[in-house]
Amino acid sequence: MAVTGPEIERLIGLLAKLPGLGPRSARRAVLQLIKKKDTLLVPLTAAMTDAVEKARLCSQCGNIDTQDPCAICADPGRDPSIICVVEEVGDLWALERAAVLKGRYHILGGTLSALDGVGPEDLHIGALVERASAPGVKEVILAMNATVDGQTTAHYITDQLAGADVTVSRLAHGVPVGGELDYLDDGTLAAAIKSRRPF
Ligand SMILES: [Zn+2]
Repeated sequence: MAVTGPEIERLIGLLAKLPGLGPRSARRAVLQLIKKKDTLLVPLTAAMTDAVEKARLCSQCGNIDTQDPCAICADPGRDPSIICVVEEVGDLWALERAAVLKGRYHILGGTLSALDGVGPEDLHIGALVERASAPGVKEVILAMNATVDGQTTAHYITDQLAGADVTVSRLAHGVPVGGELDYLDDGTLAAAIKSRRPF
């Protein structure tokens, strides 16, 4: 039931579509926005208009930026011989927060999923094979989620890269930093034992 004008209800309805926000949190957010009109709502509107105008996908890696190629692809300090493959832009941002990877990225746009009807042609796999086959590329790191679909996709990509002269690696599975063995699930423990390495 609408308790306020249609303009405000529309705003609530749109915000409620965002991940992590349901109708209740959207309502709370809109109340704050309207209460803090000058310090929050007006600058947010301007920032959104800016984003509409300037946000674009990088034609090389699929990252979201305001320039194409994106700042990472355009950075001469990045090692062009390493391509790190991720499912979504959010994964790239997470890896960048860790600030350990000095290579470049490739965003697939999801994972293969028989259940959701996502096939290889729905993902940016062809473009990856093309990039990986270019001279100077030495390693492709598969940084997929440790889910069934993520790992299925990683296997598929490994097969596709068989003809390219690159080393294919994947992220380690196992004990998280600061993790206690007693609290880990069986699958994680099994993966940690399997992926053990010399100390
Ligand atoms: Zn890029």
